[in-house]
Amino acid sequence: MTDTVTDIFRPDVTRIDINLGERSYPILIGEGLLDTAGDHLAALLPRKRTAIVTDENVAEQHLQRLLDACEKAGIEAEPIVLPAGESSKSFPHLEWLCEQLLEMGIERKDAIVAFGGGVIGDLVGFAASILRRGCPFVQIPTTLLSQVDSSVGGKTGINTPQGKNLIGAFHQPRLVLIDTGVIDTLPDRELMAGYAEVVKYGLIDDPAFFAWLEENVEDVLAGEPAKRAHAIATSCRAKARVVEQDEFETKGLRALLNLGHTFGHALEAEKGYGGDLLHGEAVALGMVLAFELSVEMGLCPPEDLERVRNHLALVGLPTTLAKVGLEGMGETLVAHMAQDKKMEAGRLTFILARGIGKSFLERNVDMEQVKALLNRPSA
Ligand code: NAD
Ligand code: MG
Repeated sequence: MTDTVTDIFRPDVTRIDINLGERSYPILIGEGLLDTAGDHLAALLPRKRTAIVTDENVAEQHLQRLLDACEKAGIEAEPIVLPAGESSKSFPHLEWLCEQLLEMGIERKDAIVAFGGGVIGDLVGFAASILRRGCPFVQIPTTLLSQVDSSVGGKTGINTPQGKNLIGAFHQPRLVLIDTGVIDTLPDRELMAGYAEVVKYGLIDDPAFFAWLEENVEDVLAGEPAKRAHAIATSCRAKARVVEQDEFETKGLRALLNLGHTFGHALEAEKGYGGDLLHGEAVALGMVLAFELSVEMGLCPPEDLERVRNHLALVGLPTTLAKVGLEGMGETLVAHMAQDKKMEAGRLTFILARGIGKSFLERNVDMEQVKALLNRPSA
């Protein structure tokens, strides 16, 4: 009997609907969903066949389970395995992937599966958007970052030597399937980097969620199923609300999701993208800097900055420039900021805060003050 029972009836599976008219889709969140993925995929596969695109690390740890689940549901699933890492988000790998999919005889109505972190999600989503002028795809995210951020919202793309994510398309998945257990095999640093984006949602506009994280962070990271699912679901809901209002990023509403990112991108650019500083680590420090600037501008109570700093430091995320070897580099970092693609008409938009959960956009920031902040020795 257990084989035929679908998760829809499991009380511990959370369903969040992204309402985008005919592009609407559900996010399902629960422990062990990988084992019943076949049932969910079958409904989206007219020919009961699909390609599962993944990377080497995910393939090694989790692919067999997904293949077994497909087989159980009568789906013929063929894996395509790419190298792990950011360099797979490139034209050469995109070309290779598209040709593999065509060789396999993937047709326009066949959904393909992105099974991996944000790299696989972005690459496969983009391939799906152009393959036969657009075919459906499903996200099965396997990093915390991809579960709470990149798998939701339909942004897909690749990198070029000119910059990250400059080639891409909006292409919404048909389903996002989040197994909260698959992230147990993530390296600690990757888990924490994803956690920084979870904290971000609390800091943007949900002070109660931030307070809940302060209480429950250990259980969330240790994998207590209900608490981890709550943290992921709250994050997905926050992202979903923004995406529903501004699907194509034309109204500027997605900008708040960039809290910590203006600073973060500058830190990443200076460090290079070789793994010295992970995106989430840069965002963590970037959020601290955004709060520091807000305090300095007299906008934010210093106690709130302390809470942000303490919480991020508690899980081992960097909260000072000294920690990441970027002390006293205000000039250079500000120059990186000026290159930010979010720059409009020569002005940078900062996301500042009047307190925890009270973030807002500010275009009038004195870059000399930013430089001084970045040059100040860490306390
Ligand atoms: P990633 O996909 O490179 O995964 C990080 C590492 O973890 C990789 O080595 C991967 O092989 C490994 N891994 C993945 N799942 C694992 C698991 N369950 N167990 C063990 N190892 C596992 O990186 P990421 O942080 O998931 O995503 C980063 C990418 O996401 C960037 O390219 C970024 O531009 C993109 N992104 C996109 C959006 C969007 O809206 N589309 C949003 C944020 C970030
Ligand atoms: Mg981010």
